[in-house]
Amino acid sequence: MDILLRNVIVDDSNELVDIAIENGTFKQIGKNLEGTAAREIDGKGKVVIPGLVESHIHLDKALIADRLPNKSGTLQEALSVTAKLKSTFTREDVMERAERALQMIIERGTTHIRTHSEFDPIGGFHGFEVIMELKEKYKDFVDMQVVAFPQEGIIKSPGTEDLMYRAMDLGADVVGGIPYNDTDAKDHLDIVFEIAKKYDKDIDLHQDFFDDAEKQTIEMVAQKTIDEGYIGRVSVGHLTSLGAVPSDQLKPIIELMAKAEINVMALPMTDLHLGGRHDDNKVRRAVTPIRKLRDGGVNVVIATNNIRNPFTPYGNGDLLQAAMLAIPVAHLGGADDLPTVLPMVTTGPAKALKFDDYGIEEGKAATLVLLDSTRYQDAIIDIPDRLLVLKRGKVTVELDKKLHINFPK
Ligand SMILES: [Zn+2]
Repeated sequence: MDILLRNVIVDDSNELVDIAIENGTFKQIGKNLEGTAAREIDGKGKVVIPGLVESHIHLDKALIADRLPNKSGTLQEALSVTAKLKSTFTREDVMERAERALQMIIERGTTHIRTHSEFDPIGGFHGFEVIMELKEKYKDFVDMQVVAFPQEGIIKSPGTEDLMYRAMDLGADVVGGIPYNDTDAKDHLDIVFEIAKKYDKDIDLHQDFFDDAEKQTIEMVAQKTIDEGYIGRVSVGHLTSLGAVPSDQLKPIIELMAKAEINVMALPMTDLHLGGRHDDNKVRRAVTPIRKLRDGGVNVVIATNNIRNPFTPYGNGDLLQAAMLAIPVAHLGGADDLPTVLPMVTTGPAKALKFDDYGIEEGKAATLVLLDSTRYQDAIIDIPDRLLVLKRGKVTVELDKKLHINFPK
């Protein structure tokens, strides 16, 4: 055996097991395993989870909050500030920031990432090329999917459609879209689906990022997903508008989404910051209705979106922090709800992103995170240190410095 990780908790029974790893896969998981390994690690009764799955992030726009401040904190100023900054995004600059953000994410236990990489005829295409380079450079640390993302729209930004095809030819994994930021949502979706079908790739949309529901197009997306034979292949991020829909009207929308098997990435780090800015009182939470989507059978997951930029001026790429934030915001702290949160940053996004070789199971890729928690149920609310990360059987992260305090006996 290559690695024998002893005395760890892998599920809510909180019973101790050993994990044997060989040739990059989980060979055996069980109590008091016999045998020896090149490296034996005592897990000291701590919790092991499969790697965290970051299903929606923008590495290319990370870590720019200190350059030009968004003083009001509003979406309008975020857009104008970012537009000014974009002209300074040289190849070297994107590489330096995106790599730094990626390293922050990796050291916090994320092993799978879907990043939206944007381009337009004015801002250029080099950011996309940088992200594709990072995907290759860090392939032993993370499985990365790159979304070809037309942030400025497709139709209203002439030349972008050609860049979409160029991105797909260069190996983009997923076709992105942003129907709410184009001249016509239907025409936008037609182009996105046409490209996705040509390259046989999944779709991931920035969808209905509004406080109110009037302009939302999620039903159009769900119906088109069914009509085009794309059931289970479409994800949407934000979807904040859905939070403004009364329950009786919401039910058929969620039923249609469940039928189309739409995955929803809730983005509370961003949506709480930018949403509800025009509410004078009873300020809304402006996050997609996570519990209602979950209860309606939709695969709803939690993701980061941005790290320290005009849209989200905080964060360190820690998915457990995003999940912790979602607990009070989405009323997920009830005793029946809390156990549903960890899967929203592990198995849920792994399913949405179709990472089949995922999970602590014999025969699967030996990817895991050892948390400084001693009870499985506390894996999020502890926001624990990530003590050890394995990716396909190789140690990628190891925390060897701990604070020592001599508390009174
Ligand atoms: Zn986004």
